[in-house]
Amino acid sequence: MKNLWSNKQAKAIVRRYARKGVNSDRALRVYTSRLLGNEPRLVLHGGGNTSVKTRMKDVMGKNIEVLCVKGSGWDMGNIEPQGLPAVRLENLRELISLDKLNDEDMVNAQRANLLDSSSPNPSVETLLHAFLPHKFIDHTHSNAVLSLTDQPDGDALCRKVFGKKMGYVPYILPGFDLAKKAFEVYQKDQSIEGLILLKHGIFTFGATAKEAYSRMIEQVTLAEKRVERSKKNIFVRANLPKKVADVADVAPILRGLFGDAGRCVVMDFRTNAKVRAYVDGKDVRRYSQKSTVTPDHVIRTKPNPLIVPAPDANNLGGFAKGAKKALDSYQKSYHSYFERQNKRVGFSKTELDLMPRIILVPGLGLFGLDGNSKSAAIVADLAETNVGVITNCESISSYQAIPENDVFDIEYWSLEQAKLGKGDAKPLDSKICVVSGGGSGIGAATAQAFSDQGCEVAVLDWNSKAVRAVADDIGGLGLVCDVTSAKSVNKALDKVAAHFGGVDILVSNAGAAWQGRIGEVSNKILRQSFELNFWGHQNLASKATAIMRAQGNGGCLLFNISKQAINPGLDFGPYGLPKAATLSLMRQYAVDYGDDSIRSNAVNADRIRSGLLSDALIEDRSKARGLSQKDYMSGNLLGKEVFVEDVAQAFVDLALAKKTTASVTTVDGGNIAAALR
Ligand code: ZN
Repeated sequence: MKNLWSNKQAKAIVRRYARKGVNSDRALRVYTSRLLGNEPRLVLHGGGNTSVKTRMKDVMGKNIEVLCVKGSGWDMGNIEPQGLPAVRLENLRELISLDKLNDEDMVNAQRANLLDSSSPNPSVETLLHAFLPHKFIDHTHSNAVLSLTDQPDGDALCRKVFGKKMGYVPYILPGFDLAKKAFEVYQKDQSIEGLILLKHGIFTFGATAKEAYSRMIEQVTLAEKRVERSKKNIFVRANLPKKVADVADVAPILRGLFGDAGRCVVMDFRTNAKVRAYVDGKDVRRYSQKSTVTPDHVIRTKPNPLIVPAPDANNLGGFAKGAKKALDSYQKSYHSYFERQNKRVGFSKTELDLMPRIILVPGLGLFGLDGNSKSAAIVADLAETNVGVITNCESISSYQAIPENDVFDIEYWSLEQAKLGKGDAKPLDSKICVVSGGGSGIGAATAQAFSDQGCEVAVLDWNSKAVRAVADDIGGLGLVCDVTSAKSVNKALDKVAAHFGGVDILVSNAGAAWQGRIGEVSNKILRQSFELNFWGHQNLASKATAIMRAQGNGGCLLFNISKQAINPGLDFGPYGLPKAATLSLMRQYAVDYGDDSIRSNAVNADRIRSGLLSDALIEDRSKARGLSQKDYMSGNLLGKEVFVEDVAQAFVDLALAKKTTASVTTVDGGNIAAALR
């Protein structure tokens, strides 16, 4: 592993933070923490921690010795000085004289000694940093180091590879006991430069930030070299179907398995040669079911992944059945693990949900699952890391993680669970929504509105620039799509299913107004309008329905019809006719797919004023239609202008109206001529 220390960068960061009143110890602590945190082979998603012992002024102006240690909830890759809260070192050091200290008292002692009471909780490994005397201490969960420790004879192998420069600490749950044990190992040989924590990770020490960091890289490189020596293709491939199904067909089936539990998930698919070798392995059941490579992954991934049968493209029904059976037995086995372990700890715990977080699919790859796309991606990252480390372990000898009791203790440890934090639940959390014509106007506002409700949103538009802008804005998926082409629509929705796991809500919004007196308008224009204003909706609804049925958890189709569908306007036949057909289309879907719990509804919007349109533009448009500004608002019963956001809200309302189907919601400020009767 390359040492990325740069004197120039270090000096620059010291200068930059000096202007903000941060001393050079803390500035350099930030610098090397980021170097470590940005290397996924060392730490992932909040894993690992670092510290520095320095001096700071307390409220009385006294210059006291403090430990600045990584705070809970911070990621080393983008850490700031406030992510390394300062704790009074003297008071922490005293704790070593205690025989026992429970977690609650430990956390309390750490918080009570913060210089700034508004700081985040110092790391659960704070005392380990505090008890050791070294100025800079770095801790990572290096893949290469874990590849050596996670073996039946990991201790002996590590001693051979790292030698006398490192101390060796058996696995102990992080906290007071581990901190004491680490100090004890250090006391026996004070010349050590770091510690190997078996089945957990590695610590390195230094008098300077550079020294601690460089020792980390040096030791990790030794581990990497050892792993490299044993690299071989070790997994024997299992028999796979002749034609394995596509991820776009497999994901909705798997996602559908979780709907019964009343819980919805978002999925993140990963595959590459390494992942495939692992999931395709004949012995995947042996090496993948021994818990995670370092304990703190457990809280995000659960101890073991679910393995489903290889999906045969010619027998997806059989795959669905096999997957359901596999999930049932996974859940049974998780439940009995909980019962067994909860008995051991005096029935003091409450069972977590039974949903796996990783699914291994032979012939395809793996999925990370969680409540939203961001956390599903984190789970998938951890899954890939586990694949890499376990593959290494199996090529050296065999993979072995901590025993079940220890796995349970960390999975059900309150301090670990606290790391996950509970966000505010939103009504459409974990739902996947597709919005066509999402690049501007009503579509863009609708994409935003569904995103605000917790949805993962895929924005479809023919305009690549617009689609990217909106998708970036809401953190969604942007796809260029021509809705008049069934091929383009199928491709786009397959991408959505492969990306998020399925589709729950379709807002079929794309449309455009053609005009012409109906007896004289060219067939070409009329057909063009039908292509977009009718076939566009049918293409989307047909494909979305197929995905929804594969999931088997219902769904919601929403169409943007227009006033024209109900109340034809002069010379607007080319627009109104296909829109009227789309109104019928909406009702037909409601009738044909009610059995599948797929709801179908429409919004009839009129006289929408985009939030961005100026009065002058409205005036222009009105003039073009031969209307004055006053006329434009005439017949508006509420006398209130209607904005794209109002239409977006109507779509959201219909998505939430669980018992409503075949309905039209009107959003026009009240136009009695367009009212449904
Ligand atoms: Zn750790």
